[in-house]
Formats: sequence, C-alpha cells, structure tokens
Amino acid sequence: MLRKSPQAALLAAIAFAPFAVPAAATPAQGTGVAWNIVEELTTEIGPRPAGSPAEGRARDWGAEKLKALGFQNVRIEDFKTLAWQRGEEHARLTAPYEQPLAITALGYSVPTPKGGLKAELVYFPTLAALEAAPDGSLKGKVAFIDHAMRRAQDGSGYGPYGDVRRKGPSVAAKKGAAGVVIRSVGTDGHRNPHTGVTVWDKGVTPIPAGAVSNPDADLIARITGRGSMRIDMTLMGKPFPDAPSGNVVAELPGRDPALPIILAGCHLDSWDLGTGAIDDGAGCAIVAAAALAAQQGGQTLRTIRVLWAGNEEMGLADGGGAHYLKLHGSEPHAIAMESDFGADRVWQIKFSGAPENKELADKVNAALWPMGIVPHPGPADGGADVGPIIAAQHLTVIDLGQDGTRYFDLHHTPDDTLDKIDPAALQQNVDAWAAVLKIIANEPGDIGKAAQDSDRH
Ligand SMILES: [Zn+2]
Repeated sequence: MLRKSPQAALLAAIAFAPFAVPAAATPAQGTGVAWNIVEELTTEIGPRPAGSPAEGRARDWGAEKLKALGFQNVRIEDFKTLAWQRGEEHARLTAPYEQPLAITALGYSVPTPKGGLKAELVYFPTLAALEAAPDGSLKGKVAFIDHAMRRAQDGSGYGPYGDVRRKGPSVAAKKGAAGVVIRSVGTDGHRNPHTGVTVWDKGVTPIPAGAVSNPDADLIARITGRGSMRIDMTLMGKPFPDAPSGNVVAELPGRDPALPIILAGCHLDSWDLGTGAIDDGAGCAIVAAAALAAQQGGQTLRTIRVLWAGNEEMGLADGGGAHYLKLHGSEPHAIAMESDFGADRVWQIKFSGAPENKELADKVNAALWPMGIVPHPGPADGGADVGPIIAAQHLTVIDLGQDGTRYFDLHHTPDDTLDKIDPAALQQNVDAWAAVLKIIANEPGDIGKAAQDSDRH
C-alpha cells in the first residue's frame, strides 16, 4: 500500500469532501435489560394508544417479559376506560393565502362535519387572550391559540404552556367556537404537530380540536394582520367509551414482606404517532431493569413493586394510576417513584419526605453525587401513574429528574422512536435508579412517613 503523509491524506480528504455522500445516521445499538425491553416494545408492539388492541398486546407482552426477567406475582389488572381513536386529518388555510397546514387532532377531539369545517380562523396570542374574549364572540369560528413555550432542561414549560392544550379547547368551546387549533406544545422546528389529550370541562360540548406544528403556527402568526384568515379542516378522530385497558404489576419480593413496599411506576400506553420509545417505553425499561439491578449483592429488605400502568395519556379519573389506587390503596407503601420523562441523563434528584427522613435523603444524595446528579429542593411529585397512591397514603416521593432539553422536541410526535434513545444515557438512568432503589429498599424503619402536604406544596 502506498503510504501518504498526513498532510497528503488531509488534502485528499478535503478534495473529496464535496463529493462525499454523508453516511446515514446509524442509531447506536444498546445492550442490557433496559435496552432490550424498550427495543422489543417499540419493535414488536409499536404504538399502543390507551384502550386499543395494541395496548392489550403490550400488556400481554409485558407480563411475559417481566416473568422471564424473574419478577414474581406478575399480573394484569384490567379496567375499562374512555378511549379515543384517530381518524382522517388534514387542514389548510384558504384565505388570505392558500397554505397547507401540518395538523393532528388532540385526544378527545370530536369529528368535524363531513366535508370539513370551513370557518374564519381567529388568532389569540395566548390562552389568557382567549379567556378574555367575550362569550359568544367566536360563534361559528375556529379559535387559534398561540403560546411561547421554550426548551428547558427541567421541562418546566410543559406546566404553563401545556394548559393551552389541556384547557384551551374547553375555553374556546365555552366562547361558542366551532373548532379550535393550537400551536403544538413542543419545542422543535419540524413540521411535526404534537398530539396529546385535551380536557373538556363539565357541561362543555366538545368541539373538533387540533394542533399544528411550530412552523405552521409561525405562519399563522405572521399572516395575522394581513387579512381575515379562513381554515378548512378535517379531523375525524372520536372518543369511544368502555375500552379495555389495564395495568401490569410485578414484584421482586423483599426479605421482609410485611414491610411497606417501594413502588416504581411508568406507563405502557403511548400516543399513536410514534412508537412510544421515550414516552414511556424508556421509563418502563428503566424501572424494571433498575429493580433487578438493585438485587445484585443480595435480595432487598423491602419488596420492590413495578407498575407498568395502562392509560396514562388519556387517563384522568379512569387511568392506570387511579385503578392502581382502587386495587392497592389498602396495602402499605413506603416510597413511590416514577420514570416518565424520556431517557436522557438524570441530573437532579428531589426527595420529598418527612424531616425524620433527612438522613435517608442524605444517604441517597451522597450515592448520586458521583454520578453528576445534584439535589434539588423539590418538591418531588412522582407522576400520573403513582400520583393517586401518593396522595392517598401521603407517601415519601423521590424524583430522578432527567435532562429534558430535547424531550419536547419529540414528545407526542412521529419522532418518538427508538433511535432517539442514547443507550449510554439510558444505562445512566438505570444505574441511578438502581442506586436509589438499593438504598431505600434496604432501609428499615418508618421511611414512608411523608412531609405534610403543606410542606410538599
Ligand atoms: Zn408519558
């Protein structure tokens, strides 16, 4: 072989660079229990909306998987839920300019009339501006609600800006609107609209509700003021009652089964647009893999119970968390945790317990410092799947906060797929979770004595 000097090789590389075909991005392949769980779930089941046959397949797969991994007392706890099924969906502006819109319906939207809803589109820069509109002023019109969500490491924009999706459609309906469109609750610049559930207030007649992508929302904002806007939209998704959902519950029994247990939750259902890799296949993978890893070096003192909840995405009063409370509310729990914020690295920990638990909190914090995870004053809140049992039993709660910088680029979009999971970050989650579970599941005493609610909020 002809040896080239480094300079010659560099020059050759530069010379050929403009003609080089960029290699396709090769997603990293992971190994280990957590990767295996989320890889199988997203590959063999895929999208699994609450109440769908796919969610049922995910439960069956999940129960088998957990048994095969060595979990005991594995069971599926069925319940019925109000589900929602997507239909045909498309929209375009027809005035003052013709523009196609990238749109998707929100969960619990009702269908537009056959042939589409053709109406004036009225722009509101904020949810507050819509709330200030006079009652009845939107009769026959479609409201557009804008907002200014920005990316944040802790994902905190989802609280306030998420209200545009959760509450906005109800407000529009109360003002007499015939339909509502929102800027997606997301931080990306792709033409991927973000779906998600909306909540109809009691007494409100639901209307067709959709979200457009951020670039489409930018377009609508720019067109505002250049003439009256009209939209032609077709959103055929609709709710259906009494759909089958269910939780998968599994345990790694402790040496003292009488002690209050440790609960580790996530949700098995996903939105339908992607394959639910980061929301929340990763969470289920993390909690199960960590519960197993916590047994290395010896069975834990307390039982660790894993909850792979059904219907988190659509579930409020009738979701997996509420059903778990119904069945297990009389069993003693000590601490609850949940993983439902993707698979990027854990960088902060929140510990909400009683003052008597400070020593335990210090011990947990000390174990996480070397992993680059820092204590945050909190409060910890768990999440939707473990929230009801936390509230009912006033449990101690620990949150392992993941880096959410890119979470809302992907959340509830077609881009929620396996390739977005960094195997090394996923493993860091498992390691952090395992470290915490090992400490708390081996801790004797009354560790479940939570802070009073007044301390927590
Ligand atoms: Zn989720």
